[in-house]
Order: sequence, then C-alpha cells, then structure tokens
Amino acid sequence: MDTLTRDVFVELDRQDSLAGFRNQFELPAGHIYLNGNSLGVLPKAAKARAREVVDQEWGQGLIRSWNSADWINLPRRVGDRIAGLIGAEAGEVAVADSTSVNLFKLAAAAVKLRPGRSRILSEPGNFPTDLYILQGLETFLDGKVQLNTVDRDEILAAMDEDTVLVVLTHVHYKSGALFDMAAITRRAHEVGALVLWDLSHSTGAVPVALNEANVDFAIGCGYKYLNGGPGAPGFLFVAERHQAELQQPLSGWFGHANPFAMRDDYEPAEGIKRMLCGTTPVLGASLLEVGVDIMASADMSLIRDKSLRMGELFIELAGQRLSEYGFGIASSKDPAQRGSQVSLTHEQGYSIMQALISRHIIGDFRAPDILRFGFAPLYVRYVDLWDCVEAMAEIMANGEWDRAEYRKRTAVT
Ligand SMILES: *Cc1c(COP(=O)(O)O)cnc(C)c1O
Repeated sequence: MDTLTRDVFVELDRQDSLAGFRNQFELPAGHIYLNGNSLGVLPKAAKARAREVVDQEWGQGLIRSWNSADWINLPRRVGDRIAGLIGAEAGEVAVADSTSVNLFKLAAAAVKLRPGRSRILSEPGNFPTDLYILQGLETFLDGKVQLNTVDRDEILAAMDEDTVLVVLTHVHYKSGALFDMAAITRRAHEVGALVLWDLSHSTGAVPVALNEANVDFAIGCGYKYLNGGPGAPGFLFVAERHQAELQQPLSGWFGHANPFAMRDDYEPAEGIKRMLCGTTPVLGASLLEVGVDIMASADMSLIRDKSLRMGELFIELAGQRLSEYGFGIASSKDPAQRGSQVSLTHEQGYSIMQALISRHIIGDFRAPDILRFGFAPLYVRYVDLWDCVEAMAEIMANGEWDRAEYRKRTAVT
C-alpha cells in the first residue's frame, strides 16, 4: 500500500455515508474516543430523555407511571428493538439485570434442560465475569456440573456427549477475535449440547444472526456499543423453542405470571418475561432505549464495512509509523476474524495509554500488555485513527510515555 497521509483519512470521512450519525452524540471537544467497547458515548437525545423521565414520569407521574409511562413493559419493549439488531424475533429478548446476572440465570436454567450431562465448555481467557459466574454455578451445584476451559482452536473437538452447555464470547474482549457462531452452534447441537453466546462486544458492532445460526441463548451489554450509559441494564435472548420449558433460578416477582395477584406461590410467566427477576431499573432502561433506537436506525452492513476498513487502516498505519518502537499486534490481520477493535501489545502499554489519554485520546489498557482501540463507526472518524497513531508515534519518539505520573495505576484501567 502507498504511504498513507492525513488527507486520505479526511477524504474517507467526506465519503462516509455514516458520517451524519456523529452529530447525534455528544463528544467532549478535542477528544478522540476509541473506547466505545467499554463505555459508549452519550447520545444527545438521552439528555432530554433523562430529564423527561426524571421530571415528568418520576417527578409528576410517580407510581402511576408504571402504567401511564409504560414502565412495566420496558424490558420487553427495549428487548424487541435489540432483537432486531441480533437476528432474533420480537419476544425472544428482554432487558434486565446485568450481563453477569443474566449469564447466571441462563446457564443455571440451561443445565437443567440436559440432565445427566456435566460439562460446561468455555475458553481460558474468556471475559473474567463469564468464568467467575460459571465457577460460582459449579460451586453452587456442588460440582454436579464442571467448567472446562479449552483453547479456542480446540473447542469444536472438545464437545462431546457429556457437554451440557458451551459458553463463549463472540468477539473476544482483548484480542477482538471473532468466533464462527454458526459452526460452533451446529457442532454443539450435533453432540446434543446447548450454546450460550456473550454478545457484549458484538451487539451494535458486528452483524449477529442468532436465529439463522439456531442459537439457544445469548446475553449482552447495554453500555458498550449500544450507548445505553454507565451501568445500563444488560439483555438476554432465549430462542422461542426453549422458553416454555426454561426454569430460571432467580424466580422473582417480575418473572411471575401475575405479579400483582400477590400470591404466595411462584408461577413463571409465559415467554421471555419469566427470565425477569425484580423491579426494572427504569432510568437505565429508558436511556438504553435511546441508544438502541439510534443503532436500529443505522444499516449494520455499513457499520461493519466501516469498522473493517478502520481496522485495516489502523493496522496499516501502526505498521508504517510504530514499527520501530516494539509494538506487537494481538488482533487477527484477517478482517473476517476480527470484531470492531484492534489491540496492540507493548510491555509499556499501561504508560503509553496513560500518555495518550492525557492528550485526550482515549482507548484502554487490558493487563498485562494490551492497548485496545475500539471503533464505533457511528461516531469515530477515519481522521481520528490517523491522529491517534501520530500521537502514539510522538509519545514513543520523545519518550513522553516514560513519566512517573503515567506509571501510577488507577482502580479502573
Ligand atoms: C463488558 C462485559 C461484560 C460485563 O458484565 P457486567 O455484568 O455488565 O459487568 C460481560 N461479558 C463480557 C464479554 C464483557 O465484555
């Protein structure tokens, strides 16, 4: 490829058919934000919506708003819109709880569907909460099921007649590596196992076709590419064919067939509603709806095209400008095997990222040595990539990264 120039990136932005979306988001002036895969940015409409929910629905409507503002149907209403983003049908997705809690509910319910099988399969280095929750389930069930982690290349071969559930993260949070969802799901079904996909780094970032791949269960995050805001509730998907027989362990009143009958005995609701536990976080779910609406108005194939182009250009640029400074690349160079991020490695990765952040270029660091750059195509510009890599080259060339202040670790990295 020819030597890239900043003008090439400016021109790509001029031709970008998604460029208009950027104006729907509020970005702090002078910032380059490459961390939409940890916390998406603020949709401008979410500010007005927050005011409305607080002032009108809560302040004025009070308890009446469960009906008049339809708070009661938020889990299903927002879930239906998310369904459209992940290749599911209305009625198969609900917004509730956190991703971690949703994993517990679904994994516990799933193992009951295949009695006699004892192995839950995942990969070492999966997102920590996924492994922790599965370890917790193993302990809770006194070892009746065991978590077994095998390297990603060996997952297909490791599935057998004893496998009850395969739990994998579709796009890996560190490397951005993308699993072949359809192939793994197909193999799992061949041996009679079920599959649960974590879509935290996929939803709103890469095309997902749950029903086309015949997926059983999925979970995902509201505050990453869906721009739902810090601590936004997560979501869960249960294929329609499993809903009637699924018994989830957190049998709270929001999942009851008739919560306001106030009866003593639990009776699960029909459909996806039985996956709910307690009272919906109304503020969080209402703001998540704003982010989901924006995402639903964008064309996923354009998002994917732009994100792949960005990844390719970022890798190319890093090769041209950073090669002498000891960076490695942790992401696949094959675009088909990459989500919407590129991860570089460097033994001074933490300090380099802090130096970048002090220049208002925000990516994130993942221990032990990963510099992670997420591309949210609705608000990241091509020229941001150029400016980011230029800044990194400067930080390396002038030794700026080596300041004591950039070595201090904060609680959240
Ligand atoms: C971000 C993320 C989560 C987050 O779970 P929470 O319960 O919201 O803290 C879970 N899984 C994966 C793969 C993630 O990337």
